[in-house]
Amino acid sequence: MLITQLKSKEVIAKLIKGKTFIINCHGCKEVYFPEHEADKLQKELSAEGNVIEKITRDYICSTDNLQVQLNKFMDKIQEADTILVFSCGVGVQTLAKSFEDKRVYSGCDTYPLPGFQGLTPQKFDCGQCGECYLNYTGGICPITACSKSLVNGQCGGSKNGKCEVDKNMECGWERIYRKLEKLKKLDILDYPVKIRNYQLPFEELPKDE
Ligand code: SF4
Ligand code: SF4
Repeated sequence: MLITQLKSKEVIAKLIKGKTFIINCHGCKEVYFPEHEADKLQKELSAEGNVIEKITRDYICSTDNLQVQLNKFMDKIQEADTILVFSCGVGVQTLAKSFEDKRVYSGCDTYPLPGFQGLTPQKFDCGQCGECYLNYTGGICPITACSKSLVNGQCGGSKNGKCEVDKNMECGWERIYRKLEKLKKLDILDYPVKIRNYQLPFEELPKDE
């Protein structure tokens, strides 16, 4: 099981550049989603302009389902400069892969919770590492796409684009580099590695009523 927690308003406000399309995922019920806090924050962001559409869908982690769900919003998505996703790390990765030319950002962090994980078939994985990195890596998870879960760039061992640990997989950091290059965001790689917040937010979970 896992829990999603909103990033701070200051962090999220900095992600918004130009016209912004917001998508929330209320898919799996085993995932705690901070619905009311997200709604309040998104209303504040909408009041400041720039938000051209805000929708809520289920199971955006399923690529096929996502495409069906978003069909009637394609014009708005093409118009948008930024897609801001409020979901676990898997949902954000699915959006980032589906719209490779767009700035796709996560408004949430994802933390683990004890318990059984749902079995929705997915192309992407999230290690529930806490303070989500996807906003620095073009929507490709360095924790699960890199065999060593490196967060500070390539280990130097890849050959012909393949990982030195598993020659059957593409090097995650080469994928990240290519994606940032495509988005003209390679300057992100010059930033120092962030000190991360590993604190689990369990005490902030709502009590059963
Ligand atoms: S960086 Fe990867 S493992 Fe960590 S929360 Fe984001 S998607 Fe999940
Ligand atoms: S070769 Fe790439 S994916 Fe493999 S461990 Fe090194 S950086 Fe990570």
